[in-house]
Amino acid sequence: MRVPLNDLRLQYLSIREEIDAALQAVFESSAFSGGPFVEGFEKNFSRFCECEQAVAVGNGTEALWLALLAFGVGPGDEVLTVPNTFIATAEAISFTGAVPRFVDVDDVGYTMDPRLIEGALSKKTKAIIPVHLYGQAADMDPIMEIARSRGLVVIEDASQAHGADYKGRPAGSIGDAGCFSFYPGKNLGACGEGGAVTTNRPEVADRIRLLRDHGQRSKYDHCIVGFNARMDGVQGAVLDVKLKHLRKWNDRRRVIAHRYTELLGQTDAVVAPREAGYGDHVYHIYAVQVENRDAVMDALRALDIHCGVHYPVPIHRQQAYRNGNHAKRHLPVAEAAAARSLSLPIFPEMQDAQVDYAASQLNEVVQKLSG
Ligand SMILES: *Cc1c(COP(=O)(O)O)cnc(C)c1O
Repeated sequence: MRVPLNDLRLQYLSIREEIDAALQAVFESSAFSGGPFVEGFEKNFSRFCECEQAVAVGNGTEALWLALLAFGVGPGDEVLTVPNTFIATAEAISFTGAVPRFVDVDDVGYTMDPRLIEGALSKKTKAIIPVHLYGQAADMDPIMEIARSRGLVVIEDASQAHGADYKGRPAGSIGDAGCFSFYPGKNLGACGEGGAVTTNRPEVADRIRLLRDHGQRSKYDHCIVGFNARMDGVQGAVLDVKLKHLRKWNDRRRVIAHRYTELLGQTDAVVAPREAGYGDHVYHIYAVQVENRDAVMDALRALDIHCGVHYPVPIHRQQAYRNGNHAKRHLPVAEAAAARSLSLPIFPEMQDAQVDYAASQLNEVVQKLSG
């Protein structure tokens, strides 16, 4: 039985008529850049996130970058984030001219450990970017408390957490702003690239709207130096269709995850992901911890079960970030996770039989490799 890591074609087939109609509407109106389909999606996505505003941009990296710029982060500043995230979180900080400082994570959800924040602060610290990793919110209350007492900005990287919540509040609505990616494989994925910033602060939303469109409020009237970071109309239309299905898809991801956890619970050699218990996890990724990770992954691939690793090298160990004293830092929890994490196939259209097969084969493989 073949078990792919993800299968976007199945998702398309399940909503084909709606997607085809949306695409046709965009082509017939020629609303290709920004425009009514993007604005309609912004309205619906802000409602979904229980935020006053959502500003759609070209991708998740731009969402983070423009949000930082909108809060005035730049050269001379430091921004705290985690080392076990997609590189984009750090790149967005670097492209403002600021410097990322990496805080280790806890060993439950592998999200920013609030107990380590004080020790990482300096006079230059301007902002904190916690990442809601794999679809589970970071522990936001203590993070917000520290940020408020020090006058720091909090930007949530919610790129893996569309529809997740923290104590009843949606991801993206807790900090000063939330940043989302709609890369095709995300829980809410475009048919191309997309991103958005959510916020309850109208002046921040206004600033990002200017920054994404060459600093112009009306055509050829440029009040600040901006950039082109607009979302295109096709993505706005597609995302608006898919948003209606997101809760159902997230529910299915949770069912699959809990099925995995039950089937993998028999052996100590596979450590299933844990839920921190302060909100709905939306399982963008289902990552277990195993010894001999690469050998386990190869053995599963030979059985046509396709896994991934998120992420094999923490950012402070990447060549791009090796200067700047990052490599000298020891961040033990993130480093251990990088060596042991294995992401199993998970997507809403996955069949129960595929889950059962992947789980039973994983149990067998780890037994063989450890015995
Ligand atoms: C996907 C992702 C991003 C980047 O989003 P793009 O749309 O690919 O630019 C940023 N942060 C995290 C945690 C992500 O998973």
